[in-house]
Amino acid sequence: MGDRVILHIDCNSFYASVEQVFRPELADVPMAVCGDPEGRRGIILAKNEKAKAYGVATAETIWQAKRKCPDLVLVPPRMDEYRRFSRRINAIYAEYTDMVEPFSLDESWLDVTASQQLFGDGKTIADTIRRRVREEIGVTVSVGVSFNKVFAKLGSDYKKPDATTVFLRKDMEKTVWTLPVNSLLFVGRSAANTLAKSHIETIGDLARTDRDLLVRLLGKLGDTLSDYARGLDDAPVAKLGDVREVKSVGNGMTFRRDLVTEEDIRVGLHVLCDSVAHRLRRSGLRAWTVQVTIKDTDLKSITRQTTLSRATDLSSEMLTAAMTLTMANRPKAIRMLTVTVSGLTDQTTGEQISLFADEQLPDVDRQRRLEHTLDRLRDRYGWSSVRPGATLQNDLGIAESAPRGAEDED
Ligand SMILES: [Mg+2]
Repeated sequence: MGDRVILHIDCNSFYASVEQVFRPELADVPMAVCGDPEGRRGIILAKNEKAKAYGVATAETIWQAKRKCPDLVLVPPRMDEYRRFSRRINAIYAEYTDMVEPFSLDESWLDVTASQQLFGDGKTIADTIRRRVREEIGVTVSVGVSFNKVFAKLGSDYKKPDATTVFLRKDMEKTVWTLPVNSLLFVGRSAANTLAKSHIETIGDLARTDRDLLVRLLGKLGDTLSDYARGLDDAPVAKLGDVREVKSVGNGMTFRRDLVTEEDIRVGLHVLCDSVAHRLRRSGLRAWTVQVTIKDTDLKSITRQTTLSRATDLSSEMLTAAMTLTMANRPKAIRMLTVTVSGLTDQTTGEQISLFADEQLPDVDRQRRLEHTLDRLRDRYGWSSVRPGATLQNDLGIAESAPRGAEDED
């Protein structure tokens, strides 16, 4: 069997690019899409090339950005529009293969192994798609072409905007292995720091390091990263029709010691709600129902759920509900907790209801901005780069890497 040919396609400055399609004059000035442009606490969500030249960075505050670039033009986000563009762009991808797996609104993997007879080799398909998205949608994309998903993603990041980068297996040592370790998927700031202390600076260093040492340094993540660096990632690209509708999102955890005090329980639930909320927002969803499963030290478990007054994607609101449920059904000591949310609705539908509510609830608005900022930082620097203060000091064995939970799809 020959190598697979995988593309990772990343829309450049996606939100800003979409805004420039509607208002082409915005391309001529430094511009950023940001939450709450009128207020001072807004956060930069995306910036165009001109703003980038001033050093304007994603996730900084408007105030910080304006200090670098006083003439920065601020545009409020229009998520519904970005979702529509995302659907149109993915429809172009789907003309080349039925194996299209969106990773976020502006990134998708494609497996084009079987498409080459019809459309040319991986690089040709990448260049064709890149030209078509630019001409038909008005957005530039960067494409990585490689033999696995992880290296394809490295490629789309390597050169941008509007570029194709090919990483072949035979060139792995002189291309991918020379890149800094933190450019690899799931290497956040804290993992990178840990590796740097062992003089592991490049992906090549990581590949040449004994796997057991990496596991000692990073736990399970070390094992995964060892595979990634050696080019052993064999995860398939999902088929378009296979990505079924998510009915619920949940995450559970057995803690290093049993949870006894109210504070223990709050810390445990906080971490779980945080990861569930992050995944909801990534999928563009909000939930009406919060469910908690509590397992005691005899491994007896009970499940309780509650319906919220409005759909949410906020960790803080889930935590309030989960805490109430858990405290009302609390055994002497808790071995394991699971938080699952269901009754999922599209963010846009939820938005119309909650926009009104949010105006009367400035705290909710502020909380949403805060949690969106956390998402951005985590996407960029890794899960453990930001942790809620309450979860920092604990002996519950809360994992350093991104919590993984099962998404219930049927
Ligand atoms: Mg992008």
